[in-house]
Amino acid sequence: MSEDLLIVGGGAIGCAIAWEMAGEGWKVRLLDRQKPGAEASWAAAGMLSPSAEAPHLPPLVPLARAALDLYPGFVEQLESIAGIHTDFERQGSLVVFFGGRANHTQGEFLAALARAGLDGEPLTGEEARRREPSLNPEVAAAVWFAEEASVDPRALGRALRAAAERRGVAIEAGAEVFRALIERGRCRGVATAAGEISAARVVIAAGCYSAAIEGVARYAPTRPVRGQMAALDGGAARPRTMIRSERGYLVPRPDGRVFAGSTLENAGFDKSVTAGGLRKILNGAAEIAPSLENAVILETWAGLRPDSPDHLPILGPTEIENLSIATGHYRDGILLAPITARLARAWLLGQPPEVSLDPFSPFRFASPAP
Ligand SMILES: Cc1cc2nc3c(=O)[nH]c(=O)nc-3n(C[C@H](O)[C@H](O)[C@H](O)COP(=O)(O)OP(=O)(O)OC[C@H]3O[C@@H](n4cnc5c(N)ncnc54)[C@H](O)[C@@H]3O)c2cc1C
Repeated sequence: MSEDLLIVGGGAIGCAIAWEMAGEGWKVRLLDRQKPGAEASWAAAGMLSPSAEAPHLPPLVPLARAALDLYPGFVEQLESIAGIHTDFERQGSLVVFFGGRANHTQGEFLAALARAGLDGEPLTGEEARRREPSLNPEVAAAVWFAEEASVDPRALGRALRAAAERRGVAIEAGAEVFRALIERGRCRGVATAAGEISAARVVIAAGCYSAAIEGVARYAPTRPVRGQMAALDGGAARPRTMIRSERGYLVPRPDGRVFAGSTLENAGFDKSVTAGGLRKILNGAAEIAPSLENAVILETWAGLRPDSPDHLPILGPTEIENLSIATGHYRDGILLAPITARLARAWLLGQPPEVSLDPFSPFRFASPAP
């Protein structure tokens, strides 16, 4: 029997959409070419920080703010259905500045944020250290974001999959989709190694691999951007808030670990952890919080962010009837998962979206269909 909705990709984005639409009573099938949730969504740091990309990507701000507003309700519902704790915590975040030009850079950062429609609280170095004693004494200025939060991305993935399955979503591992089946301007399903699968609607949420699916690249010309990470045993003097500097960031976890990140590298689909990448992360971490110089390294890993040519997500229907796209979330897919699910529900049900989809249209890269 044909599904109402077939989703390609079982990361945070695909699973959030599956869960949302199963909640509408739709029959949903999700295909992943490997174990779902083992790609970017597994590798993320879990920061839920609208301020992080705001200065460079102002169109993202309405989406990011709406996502952060949705998060407490989103995780509460997921946790109660799945019985899995996601470690959502609103611990706030600090952006810190070093050196003689710190006040100037702080001012420029606040001005860029204001242009993007966000504000933060300016702090002196001293005020920042009162809030976060682990900070380097050389931090000369900072900006505080009280609302920002974090989540454990791996636990979130487990919770999303379990909650989706409880709502009846059929999740299949080891099912690689090669092609969207397009005939006379309509998508009727997908082609896999095991044969064709029909569905009334298809959503492509295959992260940085979306462009490799035949028929999809013209709407979703995704590319991978590698990010390396390290988990440190933070010790008693570990940071309690999230902290970002020009050279890295720290995300403290409730269990005492501190995630240190990250690199932004064009390394193709290679997920290696490299000496140079780790050196950069660890130097950045110790510059922010010098006590981490002695921290034990617990784990290192790398993942591939799904980037798009303008670094904005690609969301919405294409001109191929019944084929839509939800990818390109780049550095913010964990934050944006709940709002992406809500927007997908709107376009799939033909309702108005709660945030304008115009900046994220899958048409913006495409030449007209042949
Ligand atoms: C190091 C790092 C740190 C990050 N930190 C943060 C952060 O702090 N906050 C934040 O919000 N975001 C962060 N991100 C970004 C975030 O991880 C991504 O934007 C998000 O996970 C993208 O989710 P996704 O579901 O689109 O993609 P993915 O999680 O990559 O999932 C795509 C899925 O599609 C499957 N797939 C691919 N091709 C096919 C196919 N042909 N057929 C079937 N299945 C297929 C894959 O197997 C995979 O399971 C970070 C990313 C990295 C790498």
